[in-house]
Amino acid sequence: MRDFITPIGTDCKKLAIMGGTFNPIHYGHLVTAEAVRYQFHINKVLFMPTGHPPHKPFFDISHTEHRYLMTVLATVTNPYFDVSRIEIDREGITYTIDTIRYLKKIYGNDVELFFITGADAIHEILNWKDPEELLRLCTFVGVTRPEYHKKDLLMKIEELRQQYGSKVHFLEVPSLAISSSDIRKRVKENRPIKYLVPESVENYILKFGLYKDI
Ligand code: NAP
Repeated sequence: MRDFITPIGTDCKKLAIMGGTFNPIHYGHLVTAEAVRYQFHINKVLFMPTGHPPHKPFFDISHTEHRYLMTVLATVTNPYFDVSRIEIDREGITYTIDTIRYLKKIYGNDVELFFITGADAIHEILNWKDPEELLRLCTFVGVTRPEYHKKDLLMKIEELRQQYGSKVHFLEVPSLAISSSDIRKRVKENRPIKYLVPESVENYILKFGLYKDI
């Protein structure tokens, strides 16, 4: 792994990790990160494009460097946002617990960690590696698309709280009606993606001919 550590500043007491594939990053992700930052008084949001997640075959996750670079382009104008390479540079399967342990070691126990991700991941979290430790070390924020079946999610959150004393929140984000899979499909079908992704990301996708063959 390259040893570049994102500087978070000595005043940073709350750090949120925005975990996802970001294939590609879109305005739904950016609005989500900003909404969580505001709601939970987060000092810094670290976007964390996934490396090789355990539940997906490697060939499904295209364009690792492209995903990273698009995430940098999309976040560059927000001083509260940064992008980390630690998962894409780590060899082997990417487990979130390894990332969280690493960040705890680097930034220390005084920095409270949050992990933002899609609500579906909350349902699956007990199948992740070392879930009890993970739920102890960080606060989770599961974000939902409009019309998501919230009842099941709220029951899951309550179950996790009772069994593990965990801190899991959910946040409904209307702009998450945008999805990466829809953007990929639109590109393939030569339909517009303007106003769904930042212009820099749109230009990047067109320049490198991404998503034409999927
Ligand atoms: P994914 O395949 O990229 O996304 C699944 C769904 O959730 C998609 O609908 C996606 O929408 C949405 N989503 C994902 N991340 C989001 C975010 N940060 N904000 C808003 N919506 C988001 O992601 P995934 O495979 O579920 O993984 C999510 C995170 O969980 C990653 O950081 C991954 O490394 C971690 N994870 C860890 C383990 C483990 O440690 N064992 C196992 C599974 C997942 P879009 O497609 O529009 O993004």
